[in-house]
Formats: sequence, structure tokens, C-alpha cells
Amino acid sequence: MAGLTGAATGPVLRADAGVLRANVAAVTARVAPAELMMVVKDDGYGLGADWAARVAVDAGVRWIGSYDIPTAIQLRAAVGAAPRLFAWVTSTDDEVAAALHAHVDLGVGSLDYLERVIVQADTTGFRARIHLKIDTGLHRNGLSAAEWDEGVRIALDAQHRGIIDLVGAWSHLAEASDAEDDEAQARFLAAVARAEKLGAELPHRHLTASAATWERPELRGSLVRVGAFCFGVRSADGPDLPGIAPAAELVAPVRRIEGDEVVIACGAFDGMPSTLAGRVQVGTPAGARALRAVGVDEMRVAAWDGAVVGDEVVLFGRGRSGEQTPTTLAEAIGTVGEELLCRLTPGVRREYR
Ligand SMILES: *Cc1c(COP(=O)(O)O)cnc(C)c1O
Repeated sequence: MAGLTGAATGPVLRADAGVLRANVAAVTARVAPAELMMVVKDDGYGLGADWAARVAVDAGVRWIGSYDIPTAIQLRAAVGAAPRLFAWVTSTDDEVAAALHAHVDLGVGSLDYLERVIVQADTTGFRARIHLKIDTGLHRNGLSAAEWDEGVRIALDAQHRGIIDLVGAWSHLAEASDAEDDEAQARFLAAVARAEKLGAELPHRHLTASAATWERPELRGSLVRVGAFCFGVRSADGPDLPGIAPAAELVAPVRRIEGDEVVIACGAFDGMPSTLAGRVQVGTPAGARALRAVGVDEMRVAAWDGAVVGDEVVLFGRGRSGEQTPTTLAEAIGTVGEELLCRLTPGVRREYR
């Protein structure tokens, strides 16, 4: 097998636009008539938020969720004016002002934040688009049932004054059990009904992330917020997902050969958990081989006949060289696939194809 392009001397995360597009198409088809909001938090699950958003928007995705405002503003530059961007973490007044300037929809989960967003919209003259969050049981963020009517009234009052538009209601599920998620949905729907009774229109309603979106159609709103599955990361111990594949592979070159082991240029400092040693297989030109040890900047892999310096070892990917997926690696050490991607340091070169 050919060595790494450009004589790479360290690990490379290779992200594949064709795979990302296919995943987005699979999710889009599955959730219709609900619409996909692709979530690109944690720098696009490690692959690169700008790249992922651009690929998705080119594939027809009209909503991108960013988590924070600075990322949403950066995404606005990457994807242009048309796509809706949604940032939901509570932010500073300066960030809110910048978000309004960049036409970023804001998730608002407290009365204090609601008031601050209204003040920023009023003083900057940029009309805010607000999605009000109801706490449905996670107790992380979101208006309580007791605060909800007041929040809706404040938002509607500002809407009548031409300062904001209350365009959505949303919440987040624990995904711990179907019964809890059902209860959360009941709270969500009750809040939406209350808001409508108070005069809100709420064209956008969203509750579900990857797993619930995929498995529980009855929980989907008009929008679904999906990150992991778009990137090909399925849930730990979750079912296989038809049409979904890991959108990136992590490769590293063979640095030297020592007896029955090859030493490759990737290690704990690059973000790979050292607990993987002895528990998983990686892909090589000769197929799957055991990962024996994880050091600071190197790993040891069981050698194969004809191994040469510069050969490419695939640490995770789609299985083309015998490697495991991010999710099966994660399962081997009791974590989730997203974590393997998000832990990769900026020193791991990103390559796009
Ligand atoms: C991370 C996140 C999502 C996407 O979750 P996935 O499981 O990766 O699809 C959706 N909504 C919120 C609020 C999130 O924080």
C-alpha cells in the first residue's frame, strides 16, 4: 500500500465529504417531514465545523447548530447568508450583539438571558430570532414550567414591539429511557400548547438529538438536531445504522519496525486514550492487527509481512483495512465514539477529500 501523501510524519484525520454527504442524505430521508439541523459542536465532532457545515449546506441542509456564538459567527462566514444558524449556549452581551449582527438564531433557556437578548436586540437594532427552551427534566438549562408563561409573555411583548421574533420552542432529552423521554415530550408539548394559547406561533419545534431522532419518530418535532449520526458515529451499544458510515479515518505512518512490532507515529499526546492498548485492532496493509501499546507519541502494533517505514496504519475508520470504527473503539474502553474524535488535538493534521 502507498505511504501517506505528502510524507506525513504524524497522524492525519482524513475527513471524507462523500461519506458526510451520504450520512446527511440518510438522516434527511429518515426524518422527513421533519427537517435536519446538523449539529457541528466541538469543531464539527473533531472533523472541522466549517468544512462540515459547508458540505452539509451544499447537500441541501438549511439548519446548522453550533452550540456557541463565536462558532456560529465563524460559520456564517463559511456558509453565507442563507442557512439558519442556531447557537444555544447562554452567552455574554457582546457575543449576543455579534450573533444578532450575523443573523444567528438564539436558543434561550433562562429569563435573565431572555431579558439580555431583548436589550441587545433593542440597542443594536438587529431583530433577534429566539427559540425558547423549556426544561423537560434534564435540569441543565431551560425555563421551568413555573417560568414558562412569563418567558413567553416577555418574548411576545418584545415581538409586538418589533424587537424580536419568537420562532421556536425546544428542549433536550436525557435519552436514558424511553419512558423518561416520553415524559419529557409530554412536558414539551404542554409548554408548546401553553405558548400557543398565549399567542405564540412557534414554527420551529425541536427536542431530539441523534439517537432519539433515529429510533423514535414520534418524538421528532419540525426540526431534529443531529450531530453524531451525521458524522457516522453511532451510539455506544446502539444498533447499526443503515446508510451511515464514519466520515473520517485516523491514519498514522509506520515510524520504525522492531521485531514483531511496528511503531507508528500517533499516541496519547495526539489524543488517543492509552486504555485502548491490548483491547482493539487497527487496520494495516495486511488487514487487522492488534494494537499492543499506546505511548506518549507512538503506538505499537503487531507487525505484518513486508511492513515498511511509511506504511499507513488506520486507527479508526470505516473498516476498509480491517480497522474498527470510532464507536467500537469507544465501546472497548467504556466511552462514546464522539469522545475519540473530539479528543484529537489540533496537532493532528486534518485532511479533506
Ligand atoms: C450535542 C447536542 C445535540 C446533538 O447530539 P448528537 O447526539 O451528537 O446528535 C443536539 N442538541 C443539543 C442541545 C446538543 O447539545
